Order: sequence, then C-alpha cells, then structure tokens
Amino acid sequence: MVGDSEALKRLENYDRDNLVISTLCSHTSLQIFNGAKKEGFRTLGISIGSPPKFYEAFPNAKPDEFYVVDEHEHILTKADELCKKNVILIPHGSFVEYLGPENFEKLEVPTFGNRKVLGWESSRIKEREWLESAGIEMPRLFNEPEQIDRPVVVKFDGAKGGRGFFIVKNFEEFKRVNPTQTYSIQEYVLGTRYYLHYFYSPIREEGYKLSKGSLELLSIDRRDETNIDEMYKLGSQEELKKLNIYPSFVVTGNVPLTIRESLLEEVFDMGEKVVEKSFDLFGGIIGPFCLETIVNDKLEFKVFEVSARIVAGTNPFISGSPYSDLLGPDLSTGRRIAQEILMANEMDRLDEILS
Ligand code: AMP
Repeated sequence: MVGDSEALKRLENYDRDNLVISTLCSHTSLQIFNGAKKEGFRTLGISIGSPPKFYEAFPNAKPDEFYVVDEHEHILTKADELCKKNVILIPHGSFVEYLGPENFEKLEVPTFGNRKVLGWESSRIKEREWLESAGIEMPRLFNEPEQIDRPVVVKFDGAKGGRGFFIVKNFEEFKRVNPTQTYSIQEYVLGTRYYLHYFYSPIREEGYKLSKGSLELLSIDRRDETNIDEMYKLGSQEELKKLNIYPSFVVTGNVPLTIRESLLEEVFDMGEKVVEKSFDLFGGIIGPFCLETIVNDKLEFKVFEVSARIVAGTNPFISGSPYSDLLGPDLSTGRRIAQEILMANEMDRLDEILS
C-alpha cells in the first residue's frame, strides 16, 4: 500500500467497473488517452479553457469527454466532481509543474503512482540524496565556484525549460556569468545522452524481478534541445559568445533511440537500484520513471536527473518501441499505465498502485 491518503479513501465509493482515466490535456495526454482507450477505459481530458482543436485531428486519442476549468488551481476545488466520475488521474510533467508539486500532492483524487515521490524529485538536493545513496553515479557537484577545474554547467534554481543554464570552462568564465540567483554547479559530462524510460510494477511478479514486483524498460529517447543541438552550424560556442549568443537547452521534441545491447545490463542495474532505494526512502516509486543519462567514451553512465512519472520522451512510441515490442505488441507507456490499472483492479490491489 503506497499511502492512506484521503484520495485513496474515496476509492471506496467508486464504481470500479467503470473507472475513467484522466489527465491534463498537454504533454503526453494523446498517448495516455490512446493507451487507455486500447485497454477499454473511458477517458476524460481536463482542459484549461477550451480544448485545443488538434484533438479533433486524432480520433484515437481524443478523450471521450472534456472537463473544462479556467485555471490550473481550480482543479484543486473539483475533487468531488472528478471522484463522482470515477476518475483516476495520471500525472505527467506539465500537470505537476503547472499545478505545483505541493498542490498536486494535496489533490484529493486517486492518482496513479506514489505522490510521495514528488518531494524527492522536485528538490535537487533530495534527488541527489536518493540517487547517490542508491549507488548511482552522478555528475560531480562543485560547492564553491573557486573549485571549478573543468567544464561545468551552472544551473540556476528554478530554471525552467532548459533556460538559465550556463556552460563555463573555468573560474574566470564563471565570474563573467556573475550569477545573482541561487545556483548549483555541476561537472559538464561529455558524452551521448540517453533518456531511459522504465516502468516499475509492484504487482507483476514475472520478468526482471526485484525484491518485490518487476522492472521493465519500455523505450529510450534523446531530447531535441534548442539552440544547443544546432548552434554548431553557426560557429563555435566561443565565436558565438562574442555575438552575445549563448546555448540554451529548451526542449522542442524527442528522437527515438536504442542503446548498445551490452549496456542494457547496466541500464537495468541502475533502474533496479533506484527502485529498491525508493522503498526505504518513501515507500516506492510506482509506474513509469526516467533516468536522464550521459554515457562517456569509457562507456560509463552518469545520471543527471530522475523524472518520476511518464516523460514526453515516450511520445514517439505510441505503437511500441524496439524494447516494448519484446514485452508485447503495440505497447506505449500510456497503454502500460492503463494495463497496470486494469490488472490491479482485477486483483483488488488498486491501493498498491494509486495514492
Ligand atoms: P535538465 O534540465 O537537468 O534536464 O538538463 C537540461 C539539459 O542540459 C540536458 O538535457 C542536457 O542536454 C544538459 N545537461 C544537464 N546536465 C548536464 C551535465 N551535467 N553535463 C552535460 N549536459 C548536461
């Protein structure tokens, strides 16, 4: 059981033969609705203002019903209405971000996954505590700028959407950035990026088994980031600095990937460690999560972030990936979430996957 929250108590009044899968219309919603429909669920799209017209263009992903609110915070006051509709909420990056992790935790509607994870992933300090205590290699942190002895990324606290990151190569350059906000300094890891999409099920007891439940790898992507990914076409970063052009890391899309097969052992090992540690720290991470990694030329992984829910990098895989195809056909992360809810409901174990 992941929690005894007010939200879970509301399940007692649910018509469990008619559960409705719902999320905020954004981010991975097309995939979530499409996956839920494939598993036979009704779907409800929470929209801020009128629903975007593009849902009309995708009948296999358009929710059966839209629920319109004026602003994100209003969702907090709609718990009764949503629960009357037998809604199970699926968190995604934009849903948690726009509502705020603290508000999201308070939302009294049964929600897929363990909401206690939010406090651990929304703080860079706690995230590092979790990953490092699990035995995961992270980029080195520099406590004082004077210690900078290699290329680093200066990350401003609260930097959103990849803005507010600076690459500096030494202390002299750092002084020119002249930061006025709080920041952290992280070693710049040179290598290739892999965003690993896992799924942990506490109730599936076959496959890659953990101390409880099992771990799956559903897909891998790389983010497309503007302007860093394309700025080389205009000249070197040093040249461009003279024109006041600096790299930004704003995500605009996602590219599907596979990884060298020999690295899969380590991929699973890292996922396993992160899940096992989460049991001790906050009762377990449940469902989809992503380790954002860089592999260097010694084939070593460094993890610079964990996202504890479905990530937008799963969007290229609506009809499966080279990894999920080895689990079952036509399997997106959105569909896997729906399958987990279906399975837990049949087993009468919803309280183990919802909070
Ligand atoms: P984040 O907001 O932490 O997901 O980082 C945004 C982007 O910055 C990543 O997708 C990477 O391209 C880059 N990045 C972040 N941390 C590092 C690091 N330690 N070394 C190299 N690149 C990084």
